[in-house]
Amino acid sequence: MPETYGLTVPFKSGVDYIITSKFGTRTDPVYSGSAFHSGIDLSAPSGTEIVASANGVVKETGYNANELGNYVYIEHVINGVTYYTAYGHMLDDSIVVKEGEPVTSKQKIGIIGSTGKSTGIHLHFSVMTPNLSFDKENLKDPLSIVKKDLDSKAKK
Ligand SMILES: [Zn+2]
Repeated sequence: MPETYGLTVPFKSGVDYIITSKFGTRTDPVYSGSAFHSGIDLSAPSGTEIVASANGVVKETGYNANELGNYVYIEHVINGVTYYTAYGHMLDDSIVVKEGEPVTSKQKIGIIGSTGKSTGIHLHFSVMTPNLSFDKENLKDPLSIVKKDLDSKAKK
């Protein structure tokens, strides 16, 4: 059983999405050379809602032109372990949650977009533990979370 940390894919069930870029070292899509990709990129139709991966509290929302564009960070405590999830490139003015706000799993937080350092509509999704930090030692590969979801869809 792959480790999903108690987290789920940040889309509602029934959304058709594909993995467009995996976690880890890759050729940078915008600049040349190799770079470490801090999460997984999921492409879904424009207008797709982005939802909380698990119950938690919104830690931060903001805009970063050079990286995640419009982003949300959520803090989760799952079986006594603190995780942070990051959601990037959201559509302008689509974020519907505020810092400090509790959220439940699959609650809408925004809409997919292509803001920040992005070459097309997609969600950048990162998982961190135990600190909210994009340092390699805090980052987890979200692929197992996505695979579990895709596998369960394939069985239907
Ligand atoms: Zn990405």
